[in-house]
Amino acid sequence: MIKENLAKVKASIPEGVTLVAVSKFHPAEMIAEAYEQGQRIFAESRENEFRDKVSKLPKDIIWHFIGHLQTNKVKYVVPYASMIQSIDSERLLDEVEKQMQKTDRSSIDVLLQLHVAQEETKSGFLPDEIMALLSQNCIAERWPHIRLRGVMGMASFVDDAAQWRREFGAIRACHKALLDGPLKAQGISAEQFSILSYGMSEDYPVAIEEGSNMVRVGTSIFGPRNY
Ligand SMILES: *Cc1c(COP(=O)(O)O)cnc(C)c1O
Repeated sequence: MIKENLAKVKASIPEGVTLVAVSKFHPAEMIAEAYEQGQRIFAESRENEFRDKVSKLPKDIIWHFIGHLQTNKVKYVVPYASMIQSIDSERLLDEVEKQMQKTDRSSIDVLLQLHVAQEETKSGFLPDEIMALLSQNCIAERWPHIRLRGVMGMASFVDDAAQWRREFGAIRACHKALLDGPLKAQGISAEQFSILSYGMSEDYPVAIEEGSNMVRVGTSIFGPRNY
């Protein structure tokens, strides 16, 4: 089933859009199945589950972390994650920097998670907040081990494509404002800060129409999760 699902999802994604297979809550065996079909980028959202799977699965898997990350768990994620997509606070940026200094890695890729949905429970920077933070700090001095690669976000849990479009549009606009503003001013290129990560199983076709170049798809590949 995973083979067919993955083929279907891949066929629906244009060239230039990266597929991240969201494997949270699914066993390592299912990840191995997708891996056999050529999928290499997987994402997890819980630190203990993430570490367990990293230890069991092939070393050439590219792992992304996409869940809310408590600062006391950062040290367990930083050595293994190629990218942390869910950077949602200044404190977390500082902790990732601090823990990176204890590894032999020179840098880690991160995305800035933006809060654009209506649900208060979702985390992320407000566009004004991240704009102020990056304008008021020298990025290379304060976070020398962090490579800012782009933005990430989630639309509201509503069945309303027009609302998704507005929210994805807000992520895209914030990405552009950051790039044209504080990032350009600090010498960070459009090539480096190029990732727009939005779109999940329900809404990824709309997300791609609204400029996403990285989609995070779980259910459509692995089926429903048992929480
Ligand atoms: C679970 C999750 C996804 C994938 O959701 P699906 O609806 O299963 O495709 C994408 N992004 C984040 C941040 C998630 O937590």
